[in-house]
Amino acid sequence: MLSLYNTLSKKKGGFKPLKKGIFKSKKVGLYACGPTVYNYAHVGNLRTYVFEDILKRVLKYNDFKINHVMNITDVGHLTDDADSGEDKMEKGAKREGKTAWEIAKFYTDAFKSDLEKLNIENPDIWCKATDHIPEQIDLVQKLIDKGVTYETSDGIYFDTTKIDDYGKLANLKNQELKAGERVDMGEKKNTTDFSLWKFTPKGETRQMEWDAFGHKGFPGWHLECSAMATKYLGKQFDIHCGGIDHVPIHHTNEIAQSETAFDKKPWVKYWLHGEFLVMGETKMAKSEGNFITLQTLKEKNISPLAYRYFLLQTHYRKQLNFSWEALEAAQTGLKRLHEQARKLKDTETKVNKKINTTFLEKINDDLNTPEALALIWEALKSNKLDYSTLLEFDKVLGLGLGDIEEEVVIPDEVQKLLDERKKARKEKDYKKSDELRDEIKKLGFDVKDTNKGQEVGRL
Ligand code: AMP
Ligand code: ZN
Repeated sequence: MLSLYNTLSKKKGGFKPLKKGIFKSKKVGLYACGPTVYNYAHVGNLRTYVFEDILKRVLKYNDFKINHVMNITDVGHLTDDADSGEDKMEKGAKREGKTAWEIAKFYTDAFKSDLEKLNIENPDIWCKATDHIPEQIDLVQKLIDKGVTYETSDGIYFDTTKIDDYGKLANLKNQELKAGERVDMGEKKNTTDFSLWKFTPKGETRQMEWDAFGHKGFPGWHLECSAMATKYLGKQFDIHCGGIDHVPIHHTNEIAQSETAFDKKPWVKYWLHGEFLVMGETKMAKSEGNFITLQTLKEKNISPLAYRYFLLQTHYRKQLNFSWEALEAAQTGLKRLHEQARKLKDTETKVNKKINTTFLEKINDDLNTPEALALIWEALKSNKLDYSTLLEFDKVLGLGLGDIEEEVVIPDEVQKLLDERKKARKEKDYKKSDELRDEIKKLGFDVKDTNKGQEVGRL
């Protein structure tokens, strides 16, 4: 049985979806907090998306059907995760001399291209915060009607003292949040209160603003996830995930507003969080200036899949240190794995089918990819893995082990004919070129003309 660590219950336990259908035909609702599209995603952010991809693939491997929703934060996320600072989108627009809308489009496309390079499967539904303003206004109205909000000169806030279990996800009560701590309170009544709707400051015009509650303004960051997750997955759903930094503020606030507005407890049954990628003492963050992207890796000749392999070697709930040496070692490891896959393709291997059960046990033990990889290496060393089983396992790992370019050793006499054919084509002597192709075929090889030149394979 699939066992997952739930941040809400603080326990690892068997995964039982809310809707149990015959043959697991009911879909598991999975919401993952998406990127704030004001800059490229750094490799730390991408660690979280790789973890979520593994989760989704493991669920599928266990025959669950999934409805995976991911949002695009294109408004409302301030430079401070709480309620102060500038809107990251407007900041990005100023930096690049573009509109906030152009910035959002550009970095959304860049993010989707990063996911593709990392072999991360697309969600079933992408949703943008700016496409769901009416749903967010509706949610604020529900909370106003429930009497849990108050208004200040800069926005509408959720009063966290109005609910008795605020902070349960992060055990905030145990952290003794002291009044008067160095937190910029503004006009907030309590340190943990958070904005649902922000008013555009007087005398300013924002690029992204809407009329609501008697003011021009924009939604608070936490609101979008509650509104969109509920729109697409219902008032109660199975799994919500993101990076570990979201536990004390973003997800805590999503829970507070959703459970209050929809009268459902728990709003989400399982909360899963991926640990951080760190560089030395600090987390990797755009604001820390230690910001490495897939493009930075490419400049150092590290492929996106080598980065994926590097991530899978560590459990998703353990902090991971970024280092170029470790990445290079991972790249070598993945190359060797591809070589092994290529060899296996042409070899008959006697397989002990027990390996399927053991692999399932590993990945079902809270997504233990490091142990799953170790199992594969062990089996390869003792010739106990066949090609189709390896490809089956790769449905979870997503390392492209089936994309094997066939290594073709070209005999000298074939090479000589190829060289002659190349010359003939250059001289536009297509009759001779066709004759040479026939001769090459007789020797058991096929040649195709591509924009990179002649490509040769076995017939
Ligand atoms: P953002 O685009 O800032 O909203 O972050 C996107 C995702 O990346 C969120 O789920 C964050 O929790 C996660 N994240 C941010 N920094 C890191 C990091 N250094 N390591 C792992 N995940 C991170
Ligand atoms: Zn979110």
